[in-house]
Formats: sequence, structure tokens, C-alpha cells
Amino acid sequence: MNQPSANSQDVKLAGFGVQDLFVDLVNALSAVKQLSEIDCQVDDEKTLIRQALASLIQYQDMERCSFFIVDSEGLLSNVAGISAGELGAPEVNMDSPLRFRVGEGLIGAAAATGVLQHCQNCHEDKRFEKTGNSKQSPGSIISVPVFTFNRTLIGVLNVSHPQAYYFNDWHIRLLEVYKNILGQLITTRRLVQHMEQQIASRTAELESLVAETNQLKDHFASMSMHDQLTGLHNRRFFYDQVEVVIAHHKRYKTGFCLLVMDIDHFKVINDRFGHLFGDQVLTGVAKALKRQVRNTDILVRFGGEEFVAIFTNTRCDSGKTFAERIRQEVKTLEWSINQEVVNLTLSIGIYCLNSDLIQSEQAPDIDQMINYADAALYQAKASGRDKTIVFGEACSDQL
Ligand code: GH3
Ligand code: MG
Ligand code: MG
Repeated sequence: MNQPSANSQDVKLAGFGVQDLFVDLVNALSAVKQLSEIDCQVDDEKTLIRQALASLIQYQDMERCSFFIVDSEGLLSNVAGISAGELGAPEVNMDSPLRFRVGEGLIGAAAATGVLQHCQNCHEDKRFEKTGNSKQSPGSIISVPVFTFNRTLIGVLNVSHPQAYYFNDWHIRLLEVYKNILGQLITTRRLVQHMEQQIASRTAELESLVAETNQLKDHFASMSMHDQLTGLHNRRFFYDQVEVVIAHHKRYKTGFCLLVMDIDHFKVINDRFGHLFGDQVLTGVAKALKRQVRNTDILVRFGGEEFVAIFTNTRCDSGKTFAERIRQEVKTLEWSINQEVVNLTLSIGIYCLNSDLIQSEQAPDIDQMINYADAALYQAKASGRDKTIVFGEACSDQL
């Protein structure tokens, strides 16, 4: 801004031409334009304030601009400052910033009253507090309080000039506009920051909720696929997996064996020794079955005292051999109760689907296969129990 003479606006108007006023106007608008173009999403507030101060000092003939932020204790700390000669220079270290209490000095008065303070002659004005670390006392100062949208004090903008009676109404009006835009910029940045923090924390909450929900889902999925008493997979798991198993065998043109296994006279065990003991027996049988099947096989508790297995990639003769091994193993199991030793037997019905049939149109579906294995089981029961019977005639040797 062009330098006015003495302390009178009239003198200025008389001494300066329309051209000077026009230059002042353009400079003021340029400062405001540059301020309004600052990106409020900069990393920290001090950088934003420093950029704002630079826009002011670049277009206005001021000695120094600085900004004091107020904290919750009512302390105003100098967080940014820039002198005319420092434009473009690296930021000065503000480790031990100049501080004023609200109410103290000119800056404190601006904060306390919420009204711009104009010190025309710092050498005489009692509001001006001389600070030990100032190299050279300024002649005149304007301190302007800066507020958020809702009139909460952010801090005080302070501009100074070495000459007394330097600032005029023009400067005051410009600074009133300038501090409003600066207040909006700082408020917007704080709001954006706050929103980003909120979004980050909500996102984190949501993510942990999703993780928990997934864990719960997995837990329930696992529960819904397992039999609670024996820990074996259940009938739901069987139907969930069986189509995949059949598709695999079709693709690799191999056969498999389906077994339906039923404990003989289990009702008698329950009736004689009680349901809880019956549960122990069921769990023991399930463990024994599990020991006998491979990881690639399927074994489920199909319901009650009935178990179903699929021996994958298994020929009928091998399937029957494996089934016999299971039957023999179960016969060796023993439980003691009331000084009695309890044993039991198992009947097994098998349906074997060989590699020829699995590829043909006539291949039975899973329910039909279970019916066939059930029919073989019925035969085993009818012919005295403790037997393994393969559905249909003799085993085919084809895999
Ligand atoms: P069969 O040789 O003809 O198979 O005779 P069974 O007594 O084994 O057959 P039945 O179908 O007459 O009886 C099965 C019994 O299994 C009846 C039922 O109470 C019992 N049972 C089914 N589920 C459970 C269970 O979870 N725990 C116990 N303890 N018993 C069960
Ligand atoms: Mg039974
Ligand atoms: Mg049964």
C-alpha cells in the first residue's frame, strides 16, 4: 500500500491522486483473492496461517504480520509470523513463541474485547506491551480478533509498521474483510479435519464390526455344519459338500462308495443305562469312525445313531474292506457302567458308484444313492445285524 503522510486521512486524499487509490484497491483485492485461493486442506493449521500472512504482506506495505492462537487456558501464542523481507524464506522456528494472556497488551485487548485494536503510536500508547525479544519497536500496530463461524475466538491477527500513524481507515477496512475470510478458512480446515477424523474413527468402528460379524457368521456357519454332541459334520454339511464331491468324481472319471452305518439295538443301551450314557457311547463311536476315515473322505452324523460316509476315489471292493475294518473296530469298543462292560455292533449298507455309471445319464442322484445304501443296511439288519452289505450284486472291480 502506498505510504500515507502524517496521521490524517484528509492529507492522504489531498496528497494522493486517484491513480494511487486505484493501486491501493487493486493491491487489497489481490491480497483477498490470494487468501481466498488458499487450499484449506493443508497438513497443519500453522502452514495455512503462514500462507495467509504471506498473501497479506505480499500486497500490503507492512513491516510484519503475525498470528496468535488462543488456547483453552486463555493464552495467545504466536504460531506464525512473517516480515516483509522474509517472503519465500524458510519458516522461522517457533519453539518458544511470544505469548500474551487474553486482556494483556494490544493483542490481549483484541482477544478480550473481540474488537479491532489500533495503536497509532506505539511509543505513547499504554496498551502496547514492549517485549524483550523484539529487535525494533514498531511505530504502529493493528490487532484484529479472528473468529470461527459461530463467533468462537480463534486468535488475533497482528500487523505492524515501523512508522507511527501509518495505518488508515483503508487498512482497517481491508483487515476487517481479511480477518473474516481467514476465520472462515481456519474454521473450514478444522471442520474438514474433524470430519476426516470422524470418518476415520467410524470406518475403524465399522471395520471392527464387520470383522466381528464375519467371525460370528463363521461361528454360526460352523455351528450349523457341525453336530454339537459328537463334533462330526452334520447332514447339512453332507448336502452342502456332496454335489462338489460328485462333480469332482465325474471330472476325474473315478468312482466312490457311500456308506450308511447304524448302531445295532442302540435303543436298548439308552433304555438300560440312560440317555446320558447313550450320548457317551455315540461320542465314542463317532471318534472311532473318525479315526478310520481319511481326510479326503466325508463322514457325518446323519441323525440319531446313524452315520454316513463317502469314501472318495474308492473302488467297491476296497470300500467294502474299509467298511469291514470300521465294523470290526467298533466291535472292540468298550464302556464301563454299573460294573458292567458295554459293547455294541454296527450294521453297514454300501452303495458303490463306479466310474462307468458316474459318467452316464443313468447315474442316480444323491437321494437315490442314499436310498440304495439304506436298502443294503436294511438287509444287513434283517439278516442278523453286525454286517456289511453292498447294494446290488457283487462288487465291480472298476474304479
Ligand atoms: P436297530 O438295530 O434296528 O437300529 O435298533 P436301534 O435300537 O438302534 O434303533 P431305533 O431306531 O429303534 O432306536 C434308535 C435310538 O437312538 C432311539 C433314540 O432315542 C436313540 N437316539 C437317537 N439320537 C440320540 C442321541 O442323540 N442320544 C442318545 N442317547 N440317544 C439317541
Ligand atoms: Mg440302530
Ligand atoms: Mg437308526
